[in-house]
Amino acid sequence: MTGAPGASAAGGATPALDENSVASEPWWRRVDRMDAARTVFVAVCAAAAGITDASGAAWLVSAGIAVVGLLVGCWPIVVEAWQDVRGRRMSMELSMLIAIVAAAVIGQWVTSLVIAAFVLAAEILEDLSMDRGRDAVTDLMALLPRTVQLRDGDRVRTVPLADIRPGQILQVSPGGAIPVDGTVTAGGSAVDQSRITGESMPVDVTVGDSVYAGSINQTGAIEVRAVRVGAESSYGQIIETVRAAQASPAPVQRLADRLAAWVVYVALVGAAVTYLVTRNVTSTISVVVVAGACGIAAGTPLAVLAAIGRAARTGALIKGGTYLERLSAVDTVIFDKTGTLTHGAPQVVRARPAAGFDPDRVLSLAATGEYYSEHPLGKAIVAHARAVGLDVAAPGSFDYRPGLGVTADIGGAAVRIGNARHVPEAPSPDAPGPDTAGGAATAVHVAVGETYAGTILIADTARESAKSCVTDLHAAGLRVLMLTGDSEQVARHIAGQLGIDQVHAELLPSDKLAVIDAQRAVGHSVVMVGDGINDAPALARADVGIAMGSGTDIARETADVILIGSDLADLTRTVRIARRARRIVMVNFAGTLIVDVAGMILAGVGILTPVAAALIHVGSESAFILNSARLIPGRAHRPAKRVAAAQPSPAVIGSGPR
Ligand code: ADP
Ligand code: MG
Repeated sequence: MTGAPGASAAGGATPALDENSVASEPWWRRVDRMDAARTVFVAVCAAAAGITDASGAAWLVSAGIAVVGLLVGCWPIVVEAWQDVRGRRMSMELSMLIAIVAAAVIGQWVTSLVIAAFVLAAEILEDLSMDRGRDAVTDLMALLPRTVQLRDGDRVRTVPLADIRPGQILQVSPGGAIPVDGTVTAGGSAVDQSRITGESMPVDVTVGDSVYAGSINQTGAIEVRAVRVGAESSYGQIIETVRAAQASPAPVQRLADRLAAWVVYVALVGAAVTYLVTRNVTSTISVVVVAGACGIAAGTPLAVLAAIGRAARTGALIKGGTYLERLSAVDTVIFDKTGTLTHGAPQVVRARPAAGFDPDRVLSLAATGEYYSEHPLGKAIVAHARAVGLDVAAPGSFDYRPGLGVTADIGGAAVRIGNARHVPEAPSPDAPGPDTAGGAATAVHVAVGETYAGTILIADTARESAKSCVTDLHAAGLRVLMLTGDSEQVARHIAGQLGIDQVHAELLPSDKLAVIDAQRAVGHSVVMVGDGINDAPALARADVGIAMGSGTDIARETADVILIGSDLADLTRTVRIARRARRIVMVNFAGTLIVDVAGMILAGVGILTPVAAALIHVGSESAFILNSARLIPGRAHRPAKRVAAAQPSPAVIGSGPR
């Protein structure tokens, strides 16, 4: 009954994504027919043996029925027990087999058969629960359509998604999920990519643009040439991450396995003591039978599996059971500011040139310098310069100093773009010159050579979810800190808006690390939430590193958890899921120990018959497994519903509003 925890969760080698979803089947269809038939057969044998026994028929008749029933019923139990013996593992199968055989040997046929039937039934329940836990992944896959519209010359055919190969062209109607990673070859539309890139605003796409599997086509009909399909696609990789995470056991699982083995030993020792003291074989059997450990051994991996699946469903990729467990125990959440608490899609407010420069010159210098920049501020400058019609060329060289800014070679001059530390020539914010819009705007200074050229004011707004996230985290008893490389003034402004009490500003990446170390040194367990290259070391150092889906690749790589949709509400939700999983596991631990100890005492003094003991064993175990199963997420809601307002699929490609 002790399922191999975790190990089987991934289903072995990387399966293709097109594997048929079993999630849509009703549960009773998923019960192994052999197992069900076997259980019913053993139960019928138990009844028959009981009736023949009671009706005074020949002893041989009930014995015959019992032997047949036991041979059929115990076969899988014997197989598992034998594997456990060879693997030198102490398992429930072994102790139950001992009890079944002992009951049979003293002629208690019915008892022996009833115990066997219970064991088989419990096994079915456990398999079903574990299956449903794993389905969280299959359900994620259900987002992708099973069939797609394949463009075949002039004709359009409906074919299974699994048959699509790179290079083929698919039609995607408004409201439909995009089934592959690919390039738009006709039409145009707005696409919601939040599940993949974390970008919360729909992105306009037109011929030549890339689209990603798992994003939702909103307004127009498009044709897409498949580039990466199935497990290769971006969505496929998200699913693979969840699969791998579910297969990696949480530390608490090792504890659970040890505890479960220990329960079996205690039951056997308890049985020996019972026999020595009472010389009563029936009581002895009851002692062995009553002690169950599946609530721990199977309930624990199931809770972890279900929690990771549930988190993935709501938008957080947890990369392993370990991180889920750590997340349940954190007491401090540290946020990076730019791109994490704020949108990271800041807007240039205005350019304020120094004497001898004009605004366009400052802007164009800054935009050229930031040409290769991945930083939200750099991107804002480039986007603004393009929007006002300036030419933005690539610089001769580009050097990014995390937490400071960039230095670029433009026409032979070293141009520095960044904060006051990076461009010390800039006048101080207290001087009459620069205004930082009352602390709301970040000042990015520009210097050409040694000459201060001007300042670009950039305003970044807090994410809608940021304030409620901070409030919720506080309500959950967590401390909230903010770290930023930005100026003290801007930092205080945002922190005040969001209700964050502790702020550290003007930090270099190494300073961010130091803050995390200091927090951990005084005993706090820390989550770091960030998005940038400059956050990566801190993400790695924190107990749990969490990256925004919209963040840089390196942050997403380094982090233990990714908020796919960059929605901070998912953060609080994920912490809650982790805590709930922990509570469930702990309740199962405590419940199992209480039931087992109480049961063994009652059995030892002869109050529990073996059948009652089996009932308690299976009943309590089922209760604990179902307790874990409560974490299993419900059915996936198809996101198509969200865009139900979209027009019905127009027959002509490209007619969607742009
Ligand atoms: P945060 O810690 O809030 O995410 P960063 O550490 O990324 O911020 O940046 C800190 C500060 O360094 C920014 O506020 C900005 O003044 C400056 N800076 C960093 N990168 C750049 C860049 N590419 N261009 C201009 N300034 C930058
Ligand atoms: Mg950042």
